[in-house]
Amino acid sequence: MKILIAEDDTISRRMLEKVFNGQGYEIFSAADGAAAWRILEEPDHPHLLVLDWMMPGLTGVEIVQRVRERPDGHTYYIIILTSLDTPADTSFALDGGADDFVSKPYHADSLRSRANVGKRIVSLYEKLSEKMRLLEEAHATISHLAATDELTGLYNRRFFNEHFTQSLSAARRYSFPLSLIMADIDKFKTVNDTYGHAAGDKVLKAFADILRTVGRTEDICARWGGEEFIILLGHTSCAGAIIVAERVRSVMEAECQRITSIAVTVSLGVAELNGDEDAEALLKRADSALYRAKDEGRNRVVVG
Ligand code: GH3
Ligand code: MG
Ligand code: MG
Ligand code: MG
Repeated sequence: MKILIAEDDTISRRMLEKVFNGQGYEIFSAADGAAAWRILEEPDHPHLLVLDWMMPGLTGVEIVQRVRERPDGHTYYIIILTSLDTPADTSFALDGGADDFVSKPYHADSLRSRANVGKRIVSLYEKLSEKMRLLEEAHATISHLAATDELTGLYNRRFFNEHFTQSLSAARRYSFPLSLIMADIDKFKTVNDTYGHAAGDKVLKAFADILRTVGRTEDICARWGGEEFIILLGHTSCAGAIIVAERVRSVMEAECQRITSIAVTVSLGVAELNGDEDAEALLKRADSALYRAKDEGRNRVVVG
């Protein structure tokens, strides 16, 4: 473990170094407060500190106060070493944030033992913060998995619905337009029946990629289920949504065969939020438009 020793008196500093030499510590030595602070500003600096109180530049107690102001200030263990040893001095140092207070002259074994307490506590903090980091990582992974469709990498229906509710109330409150596009791959059952399920999956992935490239980053594209997809376009009126839907349709028609070796098209239904319509009603209008697109011959965009 790294340990910082800050002591302005050269002989005392050498003695301190001797106390911790050969004890499994990596020793950082500073000859005054400013030098100690420079070490503490380096990456991977010690978190176990033995600081003389009275030093030119910065005193040990001032260093303690500065360290404690850091966001991770609680993860340091700090021993103040001083010839000031009245109860008032002790209280001043401990209340100022030091973990321990050792009066000079100190006993080498006793100081080592006190530093070992600090070593245990610092390594506990290190283990805890590593665990916290892993937990945060796991949480991010879980959140991602809970919101994502495994096959296509698009958002899933659950995430979409959460976002949809929020976007709908924001659109109503601030009176901005909001549109929905429902898309359904044409004759997809035939794709599976003719080329197999794996080829079908490839078509779904290709369509998801097209949605990702055609849409704006603010648009929420999700897999609604099976071969049905949904796009939520905030701040977009029906006219804008038709343009997006038509682009999706034409890119799919033009690109699917090149990407997957199977020519597949898509039908789309568009609806813009109106009046006091709720989520269900808006979805229903986009869905009805989609089914009219199917009825009218597929590979087209219909507005609901
Ligand atoms: P339409 O043009 O009227 O939409 O006809 P369709 O064949 O696309 O519609 P239908 O609802 O009859 O068939 C949808 C097919 O999508 C049936 C189902 O097996 C297939 N499917 C659903 N999810 C997946 C999937 O994850 N992978 C694959 N390969 N196929 C899927
Ligand atoms: Mg001093
Ligand atoms: Mg279909
Ligand atoms: Mg379908």
